[in-house]
Amino acid sequence: MLKVKNDSVHENVRCFLLLGSLSNIDMGIKVGIDLGTTFSAVARISPSTGRAEIIKNKYGESTTPSVIYVGDNGSILYGKAAKEMQECGEENAIAFFKRNMGNKDFSFEINGKRYNATDFSSILLKNLKKEAEEVSGEKIDSAVITVPAYFTDIERKATMEAAKMAGINVIAIINEPTAAAFAYGLNETASDQTILIYDLGGGTFDVTIAKINKDSIDVIGSDGDHALGGKDWDDCIAQYICEQFEERTGISFSDDAEMVNAILVKAETVKKQLSSMYKVKIPVDYDGKKEIIEIDQSIFESSSSFLMGTTMSVIDRLFESVKMNWSDIDGVILVGGSTRMKMVQNYIKEMSGKEPLHGVNVDEAVALGAAIRANLDTEPQSFLGGLLRGKKQEKMLTIAGAKKVKDVTAHSMGMISQNKAGDKYINSIIIPKNHTIPASESRTYQLSTRNALSEMEVYVVQGEYPRPLDNTISGLYVIKNIEKTGSSANIEVKYTYTANGIIEVSAIQKETKKSLKIVSEKVPDDMSWTDLDPREHMKSKGGIAGDVEVILCVDLSGSMFYPTARKPIVKATAAMLDFVEQMEPNQVKIGLMGFADRHKMVTVPTDDYKKLKKCIQEVESLAVGGGNSDQPFTEGYEYFKKSKADIKYLVVLTDGVWSYQDKAISEAKRCHKYGIEVIALGFGTADEEFLRKIASADDFATLTNLNELSTSFTKIAQEIGGSGKLKI
Ligand code: AMP
Repeated sequence: MLKVKNDSVHENVRCFLLLGSLSNIDMGIKVGIDLGTTFSAVARISPSTGRAEIIKNKYGESTTPSVIYVGDNGSILYGKAAKEMQECGEENAIAFFKRNMGNKDFSFEINGKRYNATDFSSILLKNLKKEAEEVSGEKIDSAVITVPAYFTDIERKATMEAAKMAGINVIAIINEPTAAAFAYGLNETASDQTILIYDLGGGTFDVTIAKINKDSIDVIGSDGDHALGGKDWDDCIAQYICEQFEERTGISFSDDAEMVNAILVKAETVKKQLSSMYKVKIPVDYDGKKEIIEIDQSIFESSSSFLMGTTMSVIDRLFESVKMNWSDIDGVILVGGSTRMKMVQNYIKEMSGKEPLHGVNVDEAVALGAAIRANLDTEPQSFLGGLLRGKKQEKMLTIAGAKKVKDVTAHSMGMISQNKAGDKYINSIIIPKNHTIPASESRTYQLSTRNALSEMEVYVVQGEYPRPLDNTISGLYVIKNIEKTGSSANIEVKYTYTANGIIEVSAIQKETKKSLKIVSEKVPDDMSWTDLDPREHMKSKGGIAGDVEVILCVDLSGSMFYPTARKPIVKATAAMLDFVEQMEPNQVKIGLMGFADRHKMVTVPTDDYKKLKKCIQEVESLAVGGGNSDQPFTEGYEYFKKSKADIKYLVVLTDGVWSYQDKAISEAKRCHKYGIEVIALGFGTADEEFLRKIASADDFATLTNLNELSTSFTKIAQEIGGSGKLKI
């Protein structure tokens, strides 16, 4: 039997305690991840120097190809191994998925499983993290992930989602050029410089102007095109090879996917060679024909000049929006593999009159900057280097390059609303582009009361164009549980750009001071209604949720017929006809009731406006007595109790004082309780106090005069016409 020695027990206990205390302080390291279109990289802060450094991959390389391969048996390869599969023409090797982050139309079915760009990104992130942990021997606790400045809310949220799926705790999402500016801060000595960051990667182009001084990086503006990158230059070379081969042999391989793929891979190599060699020879062997095609820098430059032109116009657009020009730029930082192309460097030299700034490795800058950002404490900007290794270290290590950062948003945030004339849907901008983030703006919307109103839809848009569909429709937010507290509900909607460039929407109801529940719903695929005239659109079913019914209740007591020469009933009839003209039969059904000593429902709410108008024209001859001893509420209540309408109105028009007011008021109140809106319109000797009592809200009681009757009815028409689920 084995005897346990006392001291070994002690040893075990000590080890356990040490491990316990280590797990408390050793939270793992914080890294920066450059999730690139073509290559990705992971960086950390060196615990010994405080400098950002790349965690190389298992092949000893700084970057890992952003490629995923899913094998027939479901096995997954990533990085270099997946890129090799792609080079062999494997269909299930997927690259450039970053270009489709958040794109619901981009997905691949592999072995019966569907993958979108978020899935591929999460697979890549998970493996990058795992490999970096293995190589560095450190546990990765959390990360700052970079995205192109031009990424919209949808793309940023998709990136966050990918990180979450990969089990990575995201400290922040930061813009690639801003990260590069951090990295540049490592080596920069001079202060107060205005820098242009020209970031041309494999699939995206971003340009940013920032002021860099000793303690902070203030981004002034940013613009870009996230469907432009090195791949487009590869396509130009591939196209040239294809055309040359066809010209010489008469054979085209443009429909042969496998050959095109192989040529594309070759084209990328040629492109890279052209960054250091003037001329490259490309042997092409297809369909029994062998050709050697030559391409030199000048051919390459002229065949792709339209792409350079695009980057130039993006820069010009940025200069215009921040009111600067090349003469304001002290230096240019080049970021992204594609800035190695001679034509990019020449262009920068030509425009800025200077060589691009050196000291930043174009492939590593973004990840290095992200690592600095990941380890920034707000105050002081320092870093407990020793803690990362589980050892206590007295000295606070300052991170090289640590600066405060003020970033901006690359897109205006707006919402779909109607223009002033009410004849167009527009993108109404709330937070303009290049505004410092985080940023919030509030707007208050006054909603008219109607019994079915409890929701409000907000379509948030990113972009600058007036026409909603020319921008990105980022989200549909439905504000729920709006309470009916009076004649109107005031909803304060707060639109926020977080420091991550992500959109948040919140709302409070001013009357109750309560926060309202907001549900983010899928933006419908078909948003073509935004191109319609809102008035036309409201006619269609989609514009108004719920059926609206109105009963016009007209007082037919004797006073409506005197003086005989200018009978009030004539004006009342004209005003009611006007009212009907302003309504839409497919939205609002209208009925008619006359009342005096008795009442009569001439027509229940109908969409047959022709018949309705005839009833209105003939209402003056209705036999309901000459006094005021009846009221319309009992009958109105009985009708609506059986009606399926969601929104119900009784519009009461009267010119005098009623005989049995208490009964009328109590019957009117019964209607209010049941959710029937009572609008009371009085003129002549009508009593305002009484009108207020029968109306369901104070501003639903109007004392007017005969000449204003039509105007008052127009207001009622607007009130009722605005019913339904509100789209703003
Ligand atoms: P990134 O997304 O920043 O990793 O950039 C990748 C892009 O840079 C790819 O399109 C590469 O083909 C391109 N690239 C890398 N090295 C070179 C080079 N020497 N010359 C031209 N393009 C390059």
